[in-house]
Amino acid sequence: MCVRVSHCSRWSSLVFPVWRGIGLGAGVRGGWSQGWGRCLQWEPDVPGREAWLPVLDYPIWVVLCQGGRARLREVCQRGRGAIRLPADMLRIKLPPLFDIHQIPKVFREDSIISGYRHPKSSALDCLLSSFQMNNETINIWTHFLPTWYFLWRFCVLCSTMNFLTDSYTWPLLVYMLLICVYPFTSSCAHTFSTMSPESRHICYFFDYGALSLYSLGCAMSYGYYAMPDCLVNSWLHQHFVPIAIGNTLFCTSLSCYSRFLELQFPQRSKALRTGAFVLPFIFDTAPLFYRIVLCSGGGCGSSDALSSHCYHLLFAVLTCFLFTAHLPERLAPGRFDYIGHSHQLFHVSAVVGTHFQMEGVMADMTARRAWLVAHGGTPSFLGTIGMLVASLVLNLAIIGIFSTPLLWKLPPPPPPRRTPKCKEQ
Ligand SMILES: [Zn+2]
Repeated sequence: MCVRVSHCSRWSSLVFPVWRGIGLGAGVRGGWSQGWGRCLQWEPDVPGREAWLPVLDYPIWVVLCQGGRARLREVCQRGRGAIRLPADMLRIKLPPLFDIHQIPKVFREDSIISGYRHPKSSALDCLLSSFQMNNETINIWTHFLPTWYFLWRFCVLCSTMNFLTDSYTWPLLVYMLLICVYPFTSSCAHTFSTMSPESRHICYFFDYGALSLYSLGCAMSYGYYAMPDCLVNSWLHQHFVPIAIGNTLFCTSLSCYSRFLELQFPQRSKALRTGAFVLPFIFDTAPLFYRIVLCSGGGCGSSDALSSHCYHLLFAVLTCFLFTAHLPERLAPGRFDYIGHSHQLFHVSAVVGTHFQMEGVMADMTARRAWLVAHGGTPSFLGTIGMLVASLVLNLAIIGIFSTPLLWKLPPPPPPRRTPKCKEQ
């Protein structure tokens, strides 16, 4: 018994029509027309024996016959064509990437050789670039995703705590708001930092401002919940938050100023910026560090909080190291352009540290509530939300002062994008 391909002139029960592919009834010309009228005929092994047609309850597309392979290929191509049509319609052209020698100096990163976005990208290009692998993509996502994690934790707290009327929770409210704001601002800064040299500076001014405000959130939560017993109601305790506001102003001013030294004095710029962030960190954590030293012999209670605070301090030191050392990309320039360079590790380390800090603050807040309310008093609206608003306004004013000369310098909207020339600014 065999199956023979023949040109059939009639439809009978002994003949299977050959599947002729997509567009059969659409009058498609060309290769498909060859399929018209081609049939498979069933022939018995023994002459004279009555042909037997198997009864099948599923369709058979017979292609493994004479010319079947070519037909199969044609079917696949036709199928791909049919599928590709909507994909072509939806395809968005991603912006090209550049090497370090193709972009102005102000956009260059230490030991990062490739994967740079266009130095005059549009806002849409910047947004699209977050879905394209370049040397900023991981920087964007390592702070954008944690924003949602901290927001989720904040929402859970909103459902379990009474932030509206329970004044004891207000320092935590300020802290939670600020740990959501700083990674989001950083993510936006990394996304839109390649629209122009001026916009790059302004984006990072906001990034530094958000980090400064985060230091105020740390000071507020530590001042109200994590202060050692012996320092509660001391002069330092009473002036802790106002001094922290002064620190945010110092930090924002110095870090913004450091950007103007970046091209001429890169090392001095880096040292100033590092110092701008290390000073508030040392001030905020000094009482906590004192408490950890005091409690190292045990007997202070709330060991969960202290272990979380210790993890946070370890990650804070690691974060500072990664920010200043530029490792591992300094050891192998160009190897870590897209994945694994120090700024990505710095982001991850900062976020993990913030997670432990949040756990420590919440553990202290819960465990020490009765004692703190009895001995330290309750936080006031002006001392928490009022201080946050005052600090926000003052820091925005500083950012405005540094941004104004850059905004005046902003050129008119650029002409359609071209390939950049190799020039240094
Ligand atoms: Zn960053």
